[in-house]
Amino acid sequence: MFELTGKTAVITGASRGIGKAIAVKFASLGANIAFLHYCDAENAAATEKELNEMGIKAKGYECNVADFEASKKAVDEIIADFGEVHILVNNAGIVRDCLVLSMKEADFDAVIGVNLKGTFNMTKHIYQHFMKKRRGRIINISSIVGINGNAGQANYASAKAGIIGMTKSVAKELGSRNVTANAIAPGFIRTDMTDGMPEKAREAALASIPMKRAGEVDDIANLAAFLASDEAGYITGEVIRVDGGMAI
Ligand code: NAP
Repeated sequence: MFELTGKTAVITGASRGIGKAIAVKFASLGANIAFLHYCDAENAAATEKELNEMGIKAKGYECNVADFEASKKAVDEIIADFGEVHILVNNAGIVRDCLVLSMKEADFDAVIGVNLKGTFNMTKHIYQHFMKKRRGRIINISSIVGINGNAGQANYASAKAGIIGMTKSVAKELGSRNVTANAIAPGFIRTDMTDGMPEKAREAALASIPMKRAGEVDDIANLAAFLASDEAGYITGEVIRVDGGMAI
């Protein structure tokens, strides 16, 4: 089994859901955790406490990843607090679902801002650090919607498809520096995000999964841990679906 002892991971949106599961998994493998959260300070404080009780160093940073300057400040603070960073997981994401016919410009911009620009911001701010250290792991959380599209999610699908393009570009840019960049494309995973879906849409999604069940946050965390490990050192530019076959 692989381990992450002595490594520091920066994980965005890790106060709950998939990001938190990734943080807990990485911590269980020995990694120190710096995580970003935005709206829910109480949740973030509870996550920080839970991670520290696992015997590693963990700290939460309140930061809107869509904000270029704020995310730069957060990365600078993290490097000052932790020293070296080895792993970046771009996980923070939001949805604002609506048919294009009635989608507001603000809903398009907000989803692109957090999901896509947030991924760019964090990658940009940590890029030189990884280049100088000549090692690093970037793991971007995309979605099967970024591969197949989805009615009612033109904003989200555009952002998640953009993340795939960005992942492959960064993999090409940083490959010679021993930095890998990969994307995970989850299907339908049980979190606050999917709990908020209308019942009919949830039922339709579940019915379209060959494995006939929703995924769990640990299904994503397990793959993220592998991609972050030394054992995955020759895998880059990949997009890996974790979806119970939903996008076959
Ligand atoms: P979630 O339960 O809604 O959690 C979202 C996390 O992102 C929270 O920690 C939230 O922090 C943080 N966040 C939101 N806006 C932010 C911002 N502007 N800056 C920094 N952090 C922000 O979502 P999830 O279901 O775990 O999804 C995690 C990722 O997986 C997302 O990128 C999502 O698109 C992707 N994904 C999810 C599914 C699924 O079925 N759940 C499927 C495919 C892809 P606060 O609470 O503090 O705001």
